[in-house]
Amino acid sequence: MRQKIVAGNWKMNNDLKESLKLFSEVANMVTDEANNDAVVIVSAPFTNIYALDQWRSGSNIHDKIKLAGQNCCWEESGAYTGEVSAKMLKSIGAEYVILGHSERRQYFAESNAQLAKKVDLALKHELTPIFCVGETLQEREEGIHFDVIKAQLKEGLYHLIKSVFKTVVIAYEPVWAIGTGLTATPEQAQEVHAYIRQLIAEGYDDETAQSVSILYGGSCNPSNAATLFSQTDIDGGLIGGASLKSRDFTDIIKTFN
Ligand code: PGA
Repeated sequence: MRQKIVAGNWKMNNDLKESLKLFSEVANMVTDEANNDAVVIVSAPFTNIYALDQWRSGSNIHDKIKLAGQNCCWEESGAYTGEVSAKMLKSIGAEYVILGHSERRQYFAESNAQLAKKVDLALKHELTPIFCVGETLQEREEGIHFDVIKAQLKEGLYHLIKSVFKTVVIAYEPVWAIGTGLTATPEQAQEVHAYIRQLIAEGYDDETAQSVSILYGGSCNPSNAATLFSQTDIDGGLIGGASLKSRDFTDIIKTFN
């Protein structure tokens, strides 16, 4: 059985006080209402992760809600003003890190080659990468979306040996569906998820393909989560906007009840 995962990506939202409020609301609701084994992850801004970890260890949820960074540097340490390293993230309580989100690829020109280095550093410091892939609207309209996804996966992750590859989480996020209210239909999402699994089977083997969790992201909300998550190859979601509301985020998690 593949791990079911619901990860909230807060992006650049919530100052310290707001983060603590939202995190504690989610923790309480999830504890009271979520009756399933899905792994719940909150990916908060760097500045707030330490405080969330402290709050969590003093509460009864402990590490029930995992913490993630939204990026890390492609180098271990040194003269990279403004960057945060994988080691630093690990030291403040993060267990996961989102890598290759389309906003990072678009606004910060992150390349697949650079992402491969980030993946290695994350793994070295025992952070599980949530590695994002996905095509733009133009790429889908040109019919090259499968090629784009293939290149992102191969160049970003295929250097990993099988036993390590198995530990990575993949998120398929069609760029045209992120924050737009336009969700991929369950069929469109399933088609790409199945394609990704097939690529993993070709690059590694079927057992590896069957063991990797692949999340869907892009305007996922409490009304569409159940249908999306019931698709054969969709193992959960990477949730942006809806993760900023404790009620909506919890309802998405409860899809797995
Ligand atoms: P969205 O964002 O749910 O707001 O579309 C998803 C994401 O960017 O991870």
